[in-house]
Amino acid sequence: MAERDNLVLAYRILAAHGVVDAYGHVSLRTAANPHRYLLARAMAPELVTADDILEFDLDSNPIHDTGAALYLERYIHGEIFKHRADVNAVVHNHSPSVIPFGVTTVPLRPLFNTGAFIGDGVPTFEIRDFQESGDIIVKTPHLGHALAATLGAKPAALMRGHGAVVVGDSLMLAVVRSVYLELSAKLQMQAMLIAGPGGPIVYLDEREVEATGGRQASAGTWKRTWDLWCIKARAQIEAEEKAKRRRQR
Ligand SMILES: [Zn+2]
Repeated sequence: MAERDNLVLAYRILAAHGVVDAYGHVSLRTAANPHRYLLARAMAPELVTADDILEFDLDSNPIHDTGAALYLERYIHGEIFKHRADVNAVVHNHSPSVIPFGVTTVPLRPLFNTGAFIGDGVPTFEIRDFQESGDIIVKTPHLGHALAATLGAKPAALMRGHGAVVVGDSLMLAVVRSVYLELSAKLQMQAMLIAGPGGPIVYLDEREVEATGGRQASAGTWKRTWDLWCIKARAQIEAEEKAKRRRQR
């Protein structure tokens, strides 16, 4: 059950940082079977509990049909897990500060230590290249597959006019990267405003990206952050459970 509980914490942490609002989701490949993953039923991330977590195969079919409504965009998760054996967690969000970088030719660049992974590259998925209906939701295996191909071996991909996907070899890494992708995008916009048109901005260079943990990011680097956020999320869940019990008395 630890996997479900950790996934609940991931949902809560992403919501607490404004990376997901009523939309967005996070998944975890199961340790017992790498051809399956866990994802909540269709609901607002902030309200997810362990009972709301469902198991899916990599074609994004639920293992047990509970009759619950499912996320239309669950194919994002299944198709990325198929493409990336190294990835064990996937976040899809509508992270507000990254959206401007998906609709312009201005690239996101690494500019501070916890955002160093951006130096590994963040491609943009253009859904118009894969369907003509005008629907920008990734709601078929075909579109999920195209998104996974755009992501390639990178830590994240922007989705033009929509949001982003962020991946990691652990739930911790995918969540921490999602939070810092949002923060880094915000900081880059602020730096660009201060610098003015064409004004120089000193981004991290390749050596700094490498040394700060872009490609080498170890679990140890993020553990302090993750532990802190988990404590806060658990406190929130406990407070909710207490209030619920009080109401039931
Ligand atoms: Zn979406």
